[in-house]
Amino acid sequence: MFWVIAIIVLVVLFKAGVFRKPGECQSCRKTLKGTEQQVFKGDTPFCLCKECSDKIHPQILSYAKSNWSYPDYTNYLAWEEATREERAQFDPDAKYGYGCELKVDTERGLFSLGSGRKGGLVFRFADLSDYELDFKPEEVKEGFFGDKVKGDEYVTVEMAAPRVYLEEVINYGVKLGLTKKGFLSTKYEYELSEGFSEVIRAFTICLYIEAARREGNYQEESMNIGEVEKALALFMFDSMDEVTQDSLKKQRNALIKAFHPDNNEQNEAYSQKINAAYDLLSGMAG
Ligand SMILES: [Zn+2]
Repeated sequence: MFWVIAIIVLVVLFKAGVFRKPGECQSCRKTLKGTEQQVFKGDTPFCLCKECSDKIHPQILSYAKSNWSYPDYTNYLAWEEATREERAQFDPDAKYGYGCELKVDTERGLFSLGSGRKGGLVFRFADLSDYELDFKPEEVKEGFFGDKVKGDEYVTVEMAAPRVYLEEVINYGVKLGLTKKGFLSTKYEYELSEGFSEVIRAFTICLYIEAARREGNYQEESMNIGEVEKALALFMFDSMDEVTQDSLKKQRNALIKAFHPDNNEQNEAYSQKINAAYDLLSGMAG
C-alpha cells in the first residue's frame, strides 16, 4: 500500500514539474521554476509563464497545450488582436444545442461552439478549414408507434486561425423517427431534427457566402443573409445545396415566363427582382 501511494505521489509531483529543470517563458523571457512552467507539447515544445498562457482562451487551452509550437501561439495572439473588433460584434441569429451550443451569426459570418453563459470563443467562417455537423446513430429501438433511432448530434470544426480542432456533442440521446427503406431491407432512413437542420442551414449558407467572397464574385453590399434567404425563397429552393447554374437558369426562365415584364410596371419590378436574385445565387453557386 505504501508503495502504491508513494508512486502516485511521485507521478503527481513529476506532472506538476517539481523535477523539471528551471526554464524561461518563451514569450516574456521570465525565468521559471519547474512548477511554474506551462508546457506546450507541439512539434517543437516550449514553455510559457502563467500570465502569457492565460492570454489563450480557456476553450482552446488544452488543445493548444497538446498541439501547439511557439509560432502557433504568436499567430494566435496576432489573430486575436486583428479580429477582436470584428468578433465583438457577434450577434447570433441561429443557435442550437443543449449544454454545448452552436451559435451562428449569418450576417457577420461568425460562429461559436461552447457552453455556459459566456459561451465559446467566437470564430470567423473566413478562418474555417474543415467541419462536420452530423447525427451519430447508436441504437435502433423498435416501438409500437414506429421505430426510432437514438444517437448524438455533434459538431466538429477545424480552424486555420487560431490553429485548433474542436469536437463537441451538442445534443445527447436524440431520438429520430425511422422509415424502413424497401420492403425486406433492414436499411433505415431518418431525418435530422428540425432545430439541428436549421442551424446546419445557417452554417452552410455562411460557408457559401465565404466561398463566394473568396472567389471574388460576391458583392460586398449584398453580403446579407436576408438577401440570400429571400432569393432562395423566390426561386423556391430549400437550401443552397439545390442551387446549380442549371437549376437556377431553369427556375429563372419559368419565373420570367410566368410574369411577362411587358405587361405592366409591377411585373417589370418583379422581373428585376428575379434577375437580382439570379445574379446573387449564381455568383454564390460558383
Ligand atoms: Zn511570459
